[in-house]
Amino acid sequence: MGLSRNILLRASENHYLLTHVPNYRFVRKALKKFMPGEEIDDAVKAARLFQGDRIPAVFTYLGESIRDLNEAAQVRDHYISLLERIDREKLDVEISVKLTQLGLDLTTDHAYENFERVAEKALALHNIVWIDMERSSYVDSTLQLYKKVKRDFANTGVCLQSYLRRTKQDVLDLLPMSPLIRLVKGAYKEPKEMAFHDKRDVDTNYFELSQILLKGVSQNGVRVAFGTHDAMLHRRIIKVASEVGVTKEKVEIQMLYGIKTEEQKRLASDGYNIRVLVSYGKAWYKWYVRRLAERPANVGFVLKNLFTS
Ligand SMILES: Cc1cc2nc3c(=O)[nH]c(=O)nc-3n(C[C@H](O)[C@H](O)[C@H](O)COP(=O)(O)OP(=O)(O)OC[C@H]3O[C@@H](n4cnc5c(N)ncnc54)[C@H](O)[C@@H]3O)c2cc1C
Repeated sequence: MGLSRNILLRASENHYLLTHVPNYRFVRKALKKFMPGEEIDDAVKAARLFQGDRIPAVFTYLGESIRDLNEAAQVRDHYISLLERIDREKLDVEISVKLTQLGLDLTTDHAYENFERVAEKALALHNIVWIDMERSSYVDSTLQLYKKVKRDFANTGVCLQSYLRRTKQDVLDLLPMSPLIRLVKGAYKEPKEMAFHDKRDVDTNYFELSQILLKGVSQNGVRVAFGTHDAMLHRRIIKVASEVGVTKEKVEIQMLYGIKTEEQKRLASDGYNIRVLVSYGKAWYKWYVRRLAERPANVGFVLKNLFTS
């Protein structure tokens, strides 16, 4: 792991920075690269633009590590009314939630009940709810919850991270359930015992997992979304997909708002199934610093705004 990535991931957890940095105007200006705005209306407007390019979306209401029951219930209700709005406005938008935003740090039962209510509403409205994967200490509880909920709610999916050494086993455990899986590389600071630190190992594991998952798509009705901007991996996944008989429209790639937008449009116009993940909300600090850590050169962009705002 690079030194600058390490420093940025530490900064994402720093309380002083969390309470001060969001007030700086130049940071808020730079944030626009990754986020259309803090309000639902901003996300909806962005989704409509992407829909024009045949790119549907996934919405995430930012926030994590909530330690208050009422706050977790508010997040649950927010997602329920978001699902109603998506339905009313006939948007092709799925949602993605963090379990610590629904109370996982309080008790697993609270997170489960809140998640179940959201999944229930989504099922009634024929929509899909994804579960983000957070740091490695949450993987067991997240997957336990997913396995339980998937029995009643086929419309739920979970994210897995290729930087974790355990993920191959997790994929093999989940496959018989015809899961919905979003495969990403992983965005947190993890110890070496848990996670590969060398980018080449993370990428190699990603490709190996992709091969297993694509076979699942062709044989078991598994839905896989490749959550990566890595062009080399896109090419290799597309090649394997055609070898195992997965058609273009079943090759699903999800990318983040503001990253490789032209590539998203090109792949969509070539017939691949592209979704853009649009985040909104006021609790953006931790999420944003993880985006900077993914590409430390982004810090230069933030600083440029210091001199131009
Ligand atoms: C749809 C989606 C959902 C995600 N959900 C989760 C989750 O639930 N849990 C989790 O741990 N992680 C999640 N992530 C983040 C993920 O783990 C990676 O940290 C992130 O996607 C960067 O890795 P990469 O696969 O794009 O590959 P990289 O090798 O990091 O990047 C490949 C190329 O993409 C471009 N790029 C990548 N990131 C950036 C950036 N921030 N700014 C500018 N350019 C960039 C660069 O050109 C880079 O060379 C998600 C990512 C996506 C796309």
